[in-house]
Formats: sequence, C-alpha cells, structure tokens
Amino acid sequence: MGYDCHRLVQGRVLVLGGVTIPHSHGLDGHSDADVLTHALCDAILGACGLGDIGIHFPDTDPTYKGISSITLLERVIEKAEGMGMKIGNADITLVAQAPRMSPYVKEMKRILADVCKIPPERINIKATTTEGLGFIGSRQGISAYAVCLLIPVHAS
Ligand code: MG
Repeated sequence: MGYDCHRLVQGRVLVLGGVTIPHSHGLDGHSDADVLTHALCDAILGACGLGDIGIHFPDTDPTYKGISSITLLERVIEKAEGMGMKIGNADITLVAQAPRMSPYVKEMKRILADVCKIPPERINIKATTTEGLGFIGSRQGISAYAVCLLIPVHAS
C-alpha cells in the first residue's frame, strides 16, 4: 500500500494521475507533485520490498526537479519487472475537497494502465472529500491512498 500528501498552493499546475486539471491551485513539490501517482509508486515499491519513492527518487536530487511522476512510475514498473513482477491490479483513493474528479478519472486510468501495461479496468480510482473537515477539507492539501497486487511473471 502507498500513501502520499501534498500541499495545495497558488501558481502550480494541478496534475493527478498524469492528467492536468484546471484549478485555482496546484500541488507543491519537487516533481510535478502528482500525489495520486506517488501513492501508486509507493504501493508498487512496497509490494516489491523496495522501500519507498523517496529512496529511489530523492527530492534533494536536481535530476528530479519538475519531473513528470508518470516518468517515475515508468521507472518503478521497470524496477518491479526487475524483481520478476508485474502489476495485477491497483485500487486508488484520492482525497480532495475540490475540484470534482469524475470528469478526469477515465483519462487517469488510461494513462496509469498504459504505464503499468495492464487494461484500464485493472486500475480503479475512487475520489472522496472529507466533508469539509481537516486540512483537506479546508483545501490546504490533497492526499491519496493506493493498494496494488503484484503477480510473479513466471506464474502468469
Ligand atoms: Mg509525493
């Protein structure tokens, strides 16, 4: 499983699941701060026993400044393949008070499934608010949770 959270700020583009979403604020971070994709990367790395995204792509490394998190996910998939694993399926929950995510979920699934080399139906994306409660409810940040199943390549 993976979890991530990023702060919402003005002057940044909001990218979630590889999709650029029109919004007054974007997520702050060293990369494009795609919190959904980061949670998925951590779920995959965790299932492989490979630590976390911060170990592989440190935010102190200028190489990763502004990098697309989809590129990071591609590298995570390569690492999983190096361990003899492929993605079975993934389920992701995005927690955000705004904007509405439903218009973008299909495209997120298409992009993530493409990188994970699985059909879009194997990626599930749910979005919820916190009913206005806490730092997410007050639109200070967005968080995401992801779980994934890995399948040994030789067993499929
Ligand atoms: Mg992150």
